Amino acid sequence: MKKVYIIDDDALIVEMLSQFISMLGYEVEGFTSAINYFADYPDDEGDYAIMLDLNMPDMDGIEVIRQLAERDSNASLILISGYDTSVLHSAEKLAHAHNLKIIGSLTKPISFSLLESLFEEIGNSGTPQFVERGNAHQSLQLSELRDALSGRQIMLHYQPQIDIKSGQMVGVEALVRWQHPQRGLIFPNHIIPMAEEFGLMGDLTAQVINQAVQQTHKWQEIGLRIPVSVNISAENITSLTFPDQLKKLLQRQHFDPSLLTLEVTESELMGDLKTSLDILTRLRMKGVDLSIDDFGTGYSSLSQLHRIPFTELKVDMSFVMNMCDDAEAMAIVKTCIMLGHELKMKVVAEGVESERILKHLEEMGCDIAQGYLIARPMDAENLIRWLNERSKSEPQQQLQSQ
Ligand code: C2E
Ligand code: CA
Ligand code: CA
Repeated sequence: MKKVYIIDDDALIVEMLSQFISMLGYEVEGFTSAINYFADYPDDEGDYAIMLDLNMPDMDGIEVIRQLAERDSNASLILISGYDTSVLHSAEKLAHAHNLKIIGSLTKPISFSLLESLFEEIGNSGTPQFVERGNAHQSLQLSELRDALSGRQIMLHYQPQIDIKSGQMVGVEALVRWQHPQRGLIFPNHIIPMAEEFGLMGDLTAQVINQAVQQTHKWQEIGLRIPVSVNISAENITSLTFPDQLKKLLQRQHFDPSLLTLEVTESELMGDLKTSLDILTRLRMKGVDLSIDDFGTGYSSLSQLHRIPFTELKVDMSFVMNMCDDAEAMAIVKTCIMLGHELKMKVVAEGVESERILKHLEEMGCDIAQGYLIARPMDAENLIRWLNERSKSEPQQQLQSQ
């Protein structure tokens, strides 16, 4: 498949998708109306794909599917829908009824990491197979997640974090992945809601922390001291037994707690604040660091922030990504950096995708950067490769040894 058409009434989405997909090496053409697409309808063509928004004002996706069927189109479809997955399902049924191929689905807001993995899988599989992104957890079964948790299907990818001044890697964030035997790699936006729904979040977090701790030990064995951050969920910070379970796990593994940071999102904190406050304080007393994640999107007040002993503040990536084109986003990033520093926290900017962003962050005194510019999340083996490459190309970047 070489060519991809994008049909979405939102011009911004068309532009963003076009840029992104052409970067992946496809020829792309975008339309903000299906009417224009059909006016310009390609009559050849071998193998091509259409990314189709189902909710459009003048001709909606369902109508587009009908028209494609009428023209005996051999396009492969990637459907895009909002939250209402019922539309998605009727569109799928309709397309199947007309023998149209659907090779994937995405829900808005579109995650670029998911989009990329979708195209990666399409690229790898030659003949496109269905790759579901956005509602796969609905068809995943509880028993599958149970199997995954008891077997070896849950794994971690690690994304480097660098000190902005020195460029040195100062740690990694562990991000969960599910290597499903049939469905391929499943991302957290499916895993987490499912684990929450089935009450398996405690088990998942335990598994993630366990793996992160073991991996950190392996790195130590080869002389690398790499601090690791893991994400914990609302369920963990309201579970009164979590601090003791964590303590036992760390003791069992003889793990130095100062190498571990627990990330909690600002919005998760807002649930049962009194309990979370108590639990987070107990966790901090056990010697682990605490990070407040996706900061700027929730509603925590200054006094709450001050009461919880956070050691790190992560500015939400939506502000970081847009800061060069949006004065408001820039102001928010700047304010978060100042606030973090006033409260004696390290400030991390996530979603650093360009040199320009990195440079602004440096000027504003931000401490740590994480994002695709530096590296994408990768498995432990590739992380070592990445570190070696980096130390070769920039000799001053010595690996930090113990
Ligand atoms: P997060 O904690 O905010 O993690 C960062 C997410 O942004 C990751 O997506 C990462 O791949 C992506 N990302 C990093 N740099 C960039 C960039 O420059 N540009 C863009 N567009 N994206 C970037 P991922 O791995 O899909 O994780 C999504 C979310 O799922 C995480 O967001 C986190 O909230 C949650 N999550 C991941 N692993 C776990 C886990 O083990 N436990 C829990 N409770 N949540 C997890
Ligand atoms: Ca995080
Ligand atoms: Ca985050």
